[in-house]
Amino acid sequence: MVAVGSGTINDLCKLAALQRGCPQLVFATAPSMNGYTSLSASITEAGLKRSVRAATPVAAFFDLRVLAAAPVRLIRAGLGDSICRPTAQADWLLSHLLLDRPYREAPFALLAGDEPALLAESRALASGDLAAMRCLVRTLVLSGFGMTLAGGSYPASQGEHLLSHYIEMMRPLGQPAALHGEQTGVCALAMARLQDRILARDAPPTVRPTAVRRDDVLRRFGAERGDACWQELEPKRIDAARAGELTARLAAAWPRSATGSAASPSATPGWPRCSSPPGRRARPTTSAGPTPSSTTRSPTPARSATATRSSTSRSTSHPADPAPRDQLCPGAARAMG
Ligand SMILES: [Zn+2]
Repeated sequence: MVAVGSGTINDLCKLAALQRGCPQLVFATAPSMNGYTSLSASITEAGLKRSVRAATPVAAFFDLRVLAAAPVRLIRAGLGDSICRPTAQADWLLSHLLLDRPYREAPFALLAGDEPALLAESRALASGDLAAMRCLVRTLVLSGFGMTLAGGSYPASQGEHLLSHYIEMMRPLGQPAALHGEQTGVCALAMARLQDRILARDAPPTVRPTAVRRDDVLRRFGAERGDACWQELEPKRIDAARAGELTARLAAAWPRSATGSAASPSATPGWPRCSSPPGRRARPTTSAGPTPSSTTRSPTPARSATATRSSTSRSTSHPADPAPRDQLCPGAARAMG
């Protein structure tokens, strides 16, 4: 199966290749998204966009001159998909720390070499600069490898992609669709602000039970889409007991000092850090559960979040060692063998 194109063509060919049991390769015609080398495809079923398992390409070809000549909207979309890395990493790390989900640093270490240059030279992309295009293509390709490495889209698609998918589903008929990367790039900015606001609080957020009911979802999205949404949402619902557990876990780990000022990351005993040696890390003790990000809320305003932000950034930052090191947190090590 040979795909010549970008997002939709590539996704359909990857899915068809898996279903037929044949190898797939791709000639990219636009640097518009990071799915060329990933093992999943973004497919719309029953009106609901899903990330489904697909074939991983045996080869992917990128001609910088072809890609630099792509419509500028497609180039910007590729940049937009690339800037989701920080919010996706923060969400993924949170799900690991709070819900014991597997987490890996390796997908992000792959991107550490190109991301700064890509962001510094992003304006040059629109003018056909091949060096800037090389950075973008490497970022997209390595981001796809990262997803393959992680066994799913976790390192590149979290809350910002969820927002984007719901916006797509709520788009009125007849209104032109935005490109995937255009939309996720904007949603990443919104998610970054939300993450900042949460981290900027002295008091830990309160996790509330899921209030959305099946009728609400059906009313919002219609019978077919609504039912598909509900099937995704129902297993992730949080009841009162679970909300209480998660709130307590957050409270026990939330960094703060006795004076109310920022505590140093090392003074946050309940918050494990992936950069410390395995086996020496403290870990929260509650079991895995649904992602609570849509239901987290803090009841009080904050004065400072330096400690939390610092703790998170130290955990999520790319290793200074240029050789990518796959640092597994204990929960990840257990879950991934
Ligand atoms: Zn994406």
